[in-house]
Amino acid sequence: MKYLKIILSLLLILNFTVQNVYSQKTKLDRRLGKTQSEDLKEQVGIYPNKAMTKYISAVGNKLVVQLDSAKFDYHFTILDDSTPNAFALPGGYIYISRGMIPLLQNEDELACVLGHEIIHAQNRHGIKKIRRKIIPLVLEIPGNLVGILNQGLGALVNAPIEIPDKVIDATQSRQLESQADHQGIILAAKAGYNPEALSPTLDRLSSFIEASTGKAEQRSYFNDHPYTANRNKRIDKLSTHLNVADKNSISKDFMHEFDGIDYGDNPTKGIIIKSSYIDLSHNYRILFPNSWKIKKGKQEVIAFNKSKTATITCKEASSFNNTKEAGIHFVKELSKGAKRYLRDSKPIVVNGKSAYLVSMVENNRNKNIYAYSLWMPVGKRIFQIKAIGTQDLLKLVEKSAASIRPLDKKDKKLITRKRIRIVKSTGNETIIELSKRTHNYLSPELTGIINDIDINKSLKKGKEIKIVVEEAYF
Ligand SMILES: [Zn+2]
Repeated sequence: MKYLKIILSLLLILNFTVQNVYSQKTKLDRRLGKTQSEDLKEQVGIYPNKAMTKYISAVGNKLVVQLDSAKFDYHFTILDDSTPNAFALPGGYIYISRGMIPLLQNEDELACVLGHEIIHAQNRHGIKKIRRKIIPLVLEIPGNLVGILNQGLGALVNAPIEIPDKVIDATQSRQLESQADHQGIILAAKAGYNPEALSPTLDRLSSFIEASTGKAEQRSYFNDHPYTANRNKRIDKLSTHLNVADKNSISKDFMHEFDGIDYGDNPTKGIIIKSSYIDLSHNYRILFPNSWKIKKGKQEVIAFNKSKTATITCKEASSFNNTKEAGIHFVKELSKGAKRYLRDSKPIVVNGKSAYLVSMVENNRNKNIYAYSLWMPVGKRIFQIKAIGTQDLLKLVEKSAASIRPLDKKDKKLITRKRIRIVKSTGNETIIELSKRTHNYLSPELTGIINDIDINKSLKKGKEIKIVVEEAYF
């Protein structure tokens, strides 16, 4: 009896520990996934179409219920990214990019892609290889000023977080990819979807990337990832032997579920035209020095010269009443260590308006590095322009500051929105002819790929074709 008691309590403890360790482990997935998903939301953005998200979630959940026991609450999200992609973050956060959706031909293909990603999350593949690489733009400016002038400069010039496990440019090991392929299509088959749909999807994705980037699928491009062809051979071998449950699709008309989805870059994320930058969300346009590169950061826009020895950034800083108040606040907030580089802080006139300028100088290996922060009034708003480089940079800074203005009708005319639309063939026309007739923005080649149709083949009357139309944004 005593022994039994001990054994029982031992069992209890053991059981408790195992469970605890297990939930501790998945807790880490959930925590990481939550943080990373918030970063992704902020840095890349979520595509806000409720109906499309609801549909994708419905297909995803149909797969999740087929798992022996789901380790997480699964979330399905459309990422506002034009590159075709799908991936999983730890903790059950599954993403499909806006750019991936037009490539899919039916619900089976969507299910196979989601199944693959669900397996990555469920089997905790991501957690074994946490990838949150940030590729910083390395400025060739020595010294401390870069960090002082803009604590956020590092983050500002960083590329968006690298998206883990792209379907094609996969960073997972071959073994984990194969596992996700195999178990993913098993899941799809259990839910009544055709497991043979994965391999043509991967093929199409590969052709699309090749046709739109001009780069053939190469070993280097695909990293340690197997060629799509080899991968597909293995998928096909398995998928033909799977028992598929009774079919019961959620949508009766897959193509129309995504009619109107945005295609290509999202103009609200900022438009770069030659040397000018148009910010729709903050309603302004700024001109940077000729031939400088322009890059959109999280809140600021950054321009830099070819040798990366000088940069100018710009953002709205309207929380101050006037430019002087903003400048004085900036100086006050400088750390003790930073204050020793301070050279000057004074009101100046730029383009006939009262601006405010703070100048800093650092001597680094007998070379002077200059940093400027200039506050510029634009109507009732204030913009902060920061720059680092040589002394003569100030002229360029003032020129850029003077160029800031709200968007006018002409600017707005330049802004377009591209969307997927479904058109019907009049019969006896090829994709090439249909494209001409409908003013299709997309090349016939890419149109052929996203519709899975030979561009020289004559289309039947009434056949529905996805095209891209360019509409005025305003
Ligand atoms: Zn994968």
